Amino acid sequence: MSRFIDKRLSSLEAYVPGEQPKPGEFIKLNTNEFPYPPAIGVEKAAADAVNNMNLYSDLSCKALSESFENVFGYDRKNVVFTNGSDEALYLSFLTFCGKECGAAYPDITYGFYSVYADLCGIESTVIPLGKDFSVNPVDYYGVNKTIVIANPNAPTGKMLTVDEVESIIINNPANIVIIDEAYADFSAQTCVKLVDKYDNLVIIGTFSKSRGMAGARLGYLIACEELVNDIQKVKFSINPYNVNSITQAVGKAVLDNDEYYTKCVNEICKTRDSFSEDIKGLGFEVVPSKTNFVFAKHKEIDGKEIAFRLRERGILIRRFDKERINEYLRISIGTPEQMKTVYSALSDIIGGY
Ligand SMILES: *Cc1c(COP(=O)(O)O)cnc(C)c1O
Repeated sequence: MSRFIDKRLSSLEAYVPGEQPKPGEFIKLNTNEFPYPPAIGVEKAAADAVNNMNLYSDLSCKALSESFENVFGYDRKNVVFTNGSDEALYLSFLTFCGKECGAAYPDITYGFYSVYADLCGIESTVIPLGKDFSVNPVDYYGVNKTIVIANPNAPTGKMLTVDEVESIIINNPANIVIIDEAYADFSAQTCVKLVDKYDNLVIIGTFSKSRGMAGARLGYLIACEELVNDIQKVKFSINPYNVNSITQAVGKAVLDNDEYYTKCVNEICKTRDSFSEDIKGLGFEVVPSKTNFVFAKHKEIDGKEIAFRLRERGILIRRFDKERINEYLRISIGTPEQMKTVYSALSDIIGGY
């Protein structure tokens, strides 16, 4: 750290992303990426966009918005596109959590919430999950802070119902509720329709997990017009061209092939459910998952040890050195073939004890 860094930032702890090795080096199941190739037509869309990349990107994301509306039912009045959904989260923290307001979120959740709060100088209220890792909606009633909840939650994979989310919104009429739906496509549920009813709800989503675009960085935020205008104002004060032209074109092509992605998502859910059953047979306790990963711990063998042994066998998964969850492994769901390999490796490792 230099002596010039803003004092406010000297104690900031940056987000620690999962390891990103060279492609092909590992079976990579550590950052919940999409395991299938892009739809037909996506590659050509990217190549065509490269031909126009001498020009600044479309500020209004017009073509992308039209395809988005076909799939999600919301148009530009209610949508802001962002450079990954991390940027949508950052913009939301900047816009809706003043010093006097603060932010409230669960103790076990996506690591970026606390980082953005610290970066923005916002006080955090951390609300513990229940023993079984569930969010208790009542804990959030009237907390009088900006509330941030990943639904389904990460890294637990558990989910609140739409009614439970609505109860949190109703019981915080003077505060913004941000629902991070990064994994909603794997859960057969979304709270997006509540946007029509509540002027204090922000829905955030991503093309990283269910649409194969983690490396292209495309996220979005859906809210009532007034909130969208607030976010736009802040976005235009930081980086109006936040979504580059190649990503806009790829995002449009991906949405125009929605059937393909829905098919892949269904396949991932099927693989998730069978993999969960399989590893229970090896002595794992598995948290029922509504996402494209499973959160599991072995009844006897140390989680750190299992992660190490998997790595030796060329398989990367995620483990968090954090109280309450340090025995757990978070394993992203890949193709059926990849999960067969993981199962064999696990059964090999566990058989050796
Ligand atoms: C992966 C993830 C995100 C961020 O995804 P982007 O790649 O930035 O779109 C946001 N929230 C949760 C809960 C996630 O797991």
